[in-house]
Amino acid sequence: MAEKLREYNRKRDPKQTPEPFSSKRKGAKAPIFVVQRHDARRLHYDFRLEKGGALASWAVPKGVPLEPGAKALAVHVEDHPLEDAKFHGEIPKGQYGAGSVEIFDNGTYELLEEKRNGQLTFELHGKKLKGTWSLVPAHMDGKEQNWLLIKRSDDEAAAAHLTEHRTYRPMLASLAKSVPRGADWTYEVKFDGF
Ligand code: MN
Repeated sequence: MAEKLREYNRKRDPKQTPEPFSSKRKGAKAPIFVVQRHDARRLHYDFRLEKGGALASWAVPKGVPLEPGAKALAVHVEDHPLEDAKFHGEIPKGQYGAGSVEIFDNGTYELLEEKRNGQLTFELHGKKLKGTWSLVPAHMDGKEQNWLLIKRSDDEAAAAHLTEHRTYRPMLASLAKSVPRGADWTYEVKFDGF
C-alpha cells in the first residue's frame, strides 16, 4: 500500500493540504468509484476506481462521456488513497492540485472485463452515472499516460461479459456408420473411399 501511494505522498504535504492520507475501508463491499470536479489550474474531472486497496485515477479534462461510442481523453495519474473518495473542499494555493474539489458522483462499480494490457470495462452504479464504460490504454499522441474513457452501449457490455466467461472450440467431423437424422445435424460424404 505504501508503495502504491508513494507518488501521491511525494507530491503532497499533510501539514499543508486537507487532502486525506489514509487508505482504509471497512468490510468487503462492492468496489467504489468517485468522480470529482476539480477546478484547478485547468478544470477537469478526476475519475477514480477502487483497485488493489487504493483508487486508480485518471484526469478527464472534458468530463465523463455519456453517449454510447463517445470517447474522452483520460490521463492516467498516480493512485490516490481510498479516503480521497470522500474528499471535497479547497486545496490551498501553492499546493499540488490547488483549487476546489466537488464530488460530481460516486457509488459502486462492477468490473466486467480486465485485459492483459490494463484495459478495463466496468458498470458504474452511481446516482448520475449508470451503465458501462471502458478505460483503454490508447497511448494518445504516443504518450503512455493518455488513455481513453469510452461510453459503451449495454449490448457491447453484455458481449464483453460473454467473451470473458465462455470459450468455444470448433466441432470437428467424426466418422459414423449411418447418417444421423434430425434438423440439428449436418454431414459430409468422405470421398477418399474409406
Ligand atoms: Mn485533479
